[in-house]
Amino acid sequence: RIAIAPSQLQQQQILLTKEQQHYLGRVLRLREGDRFIAMDGKGKWWLAQLAAEQAQVLEILTVETELPVLITLLIALPKGNGFDEVVRCCTELGVTCIAPVLSDRTLLHPSPQKLERWRRIAGEAAEQSERSFVPTILEPVTFNTGLSSVNTQQSIVNTQQYICVARGDFPHLKDCLQHKEQVTNDKAQSRATAFLSPCVGKQVALSQGFLGSELGKTEQQTIVIATGPEGGWTKQEVENAIAVGFQPVSLGRRILRAVTAPVVALSLITAACEV
Ligand code: SAM
Repeated sequence: RIAIAPSQLQQQQILLTKEQQHYLGRVLRLREGDRFIAMDGKGKWWLAQLAAEQAQVLEILTVETELPVLITLLIALPKGNGFDEVVRCCTELGVTCIAPVLSDRTLLHPSPQKLERWRRIAGEAAEQSERSFVPTILEPVTFNTGLSSVNTQQSIVNTQQYICVARGDFPHLKDCLQHKEQVTNDKAQSRATAFLSPCVGKQVALSQGFLGSELGKTEQQTIVIATGPEGGWTKQEVENAIAVGFQPVSLGRRILRAVTAPVVALSLITAACEV
């Protein structure tokens, strides 16, 4: 598989860059006439046949590897290179968007080059996991800015927001993610999965918009999950999150590392919503 830019596709031909020619010919040892998969990281995949400096598109492929919910990970940047592994693992697990934030106890203030690196890692991980979409990695912002942008972008009815807090008597995330029902809309032949969140108190019902009262106009559910830094969230940060609709949740009785917690949270969400 290789990732291509939209400009490389011209009238059923993929114009290969020198690097791609090298990768296909020298690394993968493909010859003219051999087939490979090209993807644009935005949901389109093609079966292509290698020619000299280009490839012929043979078929448009349908790939269904995405989760039925959109997941935004709001994560306080961990120290060292730990975030690289978070990006890689959470991309494999199906995250839609990763929003790194600088919290009161964040130890790392990343250089601009880091963002490029994280986006590259997300691209590679998406390719390896055969995902249709490459997750968006946002520029780091302060925790409060992150909270308010999440809050203004999401529509309340289709969003569940959780903040993972290591200590305290909070409900377990798995108990908040109850897989409720799978619905088949015969006409649209589209499947949708609904979740009820008893912990949040605001029930995410099978809303008109979500099921698609008009064909083709389905709204996807979004789960926002926030995980803290090595030193944990401050009391004020947890209170700020609760004030904009986040439910504090536990990931179990053991204290997980800042780089382990998002992977565990994503695994629980994946397990609850994958059909
Ligand atoms: N000493 C810190 C404290 O008491 O909060 C530990 C922080 S932990 C290393 C880093 C982050 O991972 C936490 O802020 C939290 O978001 C998440 N985390 C780790 N273990 C957790 C657990 N058992 N339940 C919920 N969140 C957890």
